[in-house]
Amino acid sequence: MFSYRHAFHAGNHADVLKHITLLFGLKLLQKKETGICLIDTHAGAGIYSLDGEYALKSAEANEGVLRLSTYCSEHPNAIPESVSDYFAQIALLNPPKSIKTYPGSSQLMLQVMRKQDQLKLMELHSTDFPFLVENIAVSQENYRPKKSVQINQKDGFTQLKAYLPPPTRRGLCLIDPSYENKDDYQLVLTALGESIKRFATGAYFIWYPIQQRRDATELPQQLAQFCEDHQLPYLQAELQIKSQILTEGLAASGMWVINPPWQLKEQLAECLPFLVKALGQDDYSRFELNSQD
Ligand code: SAM
Repeated sequence: MFSYRHAFHAGNHADVLKHITLLFGLKLLQKKETGICLIDTHAGAGIYSLDGEYALKSAEANEGVLRLSTYCSEHPNAIPESVSDYFAQIALLNPPKSIKTYPGSSQLMLQVMRKQDQLKLMELHSTDFPFLVENIAVSQENYRPKKSVQINQKDGFTQLKAYLPPPTRRGLCLIDPSYENKDDYQLVLTALGESIKRFATGAYFIWYPIQQRRDATELPQQLAQFCEDHQLPYLQAELQIKSQILTEGLAASGMWVINPPWQLKEQLAECLPFLVKALGQDDYSRFELNSQD
């Protein structure tokens, strides 16, 4: 079984980029009334304690959501809409002016989904799966009637296609592996190939690490080729917060969005420079925003 536990990384700079992009993309899709099928192929535990043992050990949130929160309180008039929306969702789990609890992708989607939307979650880890089930059950207590959520302890890469196409023909799929297993790079492409055959108009949000290793550097190129081969529009957003050479941990990551919601690019164009100012630690801090229609 894998050793990766997202609790070590919750609220880090990669989560900030991923969750802001995800939430705003979903908000844009929800401008239309028709229900959306939300699929999280690698759901994690749903909710994370930032003062728990794992988070304190890595302290990654200090370089991510907590640093962003401090920067926002110092620059209240410059906060982009996508960043305030993100903090509004985090605030639902926390007392005023404090962030001790961090919502992962599945919890965020649960919070913002509407009664006509559906949520499908996959998590394979034998420890995180029961946490996810428990966290979702506790959150569901806030909703009457309960929201439509299905949770599976299944392989997200192979299970994804089982949900496609969604009955309403509207869907958002988050593909967020840990890449702890180096096969994950190829599995992302395979899962996308199978999914696009069934549901070419879905919005696919793929998170990827930016690291000095061949499979990691090749993934964005392969995704670009995939989109070109299938004539799919895409958006690529990257955020780097420090030099990769001088750090042991992850210094940068990206989101690849296939069939991006209308106006997501404009929102990210406003948000990414703000994130670089807030989270950037040295001259290597940068963002990248590319698209192909
Ligand atoms: N999406 C989560 C978030 O943003 O809050 C974080 C997910 S974390 C990066 C990746 C998760 O995928 C881990 O919890 C890991 O146990 C799980 N996992 C690994 N391989 C998997 C697979 N093949 N199918 C489903 N889950 C898997």
